[in-house]
Amino acid sequence: MTPSAFLPPVLAFLVGACVGSFLNVCVARWPAGESVVRPPSRCPHCGRGVRAWENVPVLGWLMLRGRCAGCGAGISPQYPIVELLVGLGWLLCVLAFGATLEALRVAVFGTVMAGIALTDARHYLIPDGFTVFGLLWVLATAMLGAFYLGDGGAFASPADALLGACAGAGVVAIIGWLGEVALKKEAMGFGDVTLMAVVGAAVGPWRALLTVFAGAALAAVLFPLVVVPIGMWRSRRTGAAFELPQVPFGVFLAPAAVLTLLWGSDLMDWYLDRFIA
Ligand SMILES: [Zn+2]
Repeated sequence: MTPSAFLPPVLAFLVGACVGSFLNVCVARWPAGESVVRPPSRCPHCGRGVRAWENVPVLGWLMLRGRCAGCGAGISPQYPIVELLVGLGWLLCVLAFGATLEALRVAVFGTVMAGIALTDARHYLIPDGFTVFGLLWVLATAMLGAFYLGDGGAFASPADALLGACAGAGVVAIIGWLGEVALKKEAMGFGDVTLMAVVGAAVGPWRALLTVFAGAALAAVLFPLVVVPIGMWRSRRTGAAFELPQVPFGVFLAPAAVLTLLWGSDLMDWYLDRFIA
């Protein structure tokens, strides 16, 4: 690799880390109905404004050693972890797809999905800020990709994107409706319907259905292996009685959507070749 070859991945990491920093603000503020633009970040305990160098992704938190410089209150490690992971995600996109529109599309889609999974896990809701932006972004870049840059790569064509948004939202609405009838309580929130509209626009109708199956499969694997042990560990630590933890479906749908976008077509081809043809 020549030195100049390092420039796009390094830039992608830096931009991604800054996007991750903004994602933290969205996850913290949207559930409370607050603006993500104003006021500027401040310590929730003492109200001290965050200075420019403290806002530098990952490094700011490290230099502060995870504590507010004013009152010493702890700052969640979620902030640098999200910045680091989103930065790495953007770097991987540029390594896999080059410095292309497709790399940007995968990176932004993955970031929106990460924000949705995180907010749903912490607050049991999927803010419209993520889903409205996600839907407009996916549709606009589908048209840009189709009309100006040729192949849309892993993403659905504009026509399939519109069909996919309807199919994704529709199938989750139907499952939620039937589940509510069967269980006599809300089985799926409206947030899951809006999430699957975004996912369907990205992957098209067939892979939208695959995403719902993959999300259910992911939940079936992760629930007993990860979620239940964490719940048991927490109840042992706090001395409270163990209750089966509630985990919203969006936490599983969002990563399933990214997996389906990247590998869903291969999986469907393999399945069709083996079992149908
Ligand atoms: Zn403080």
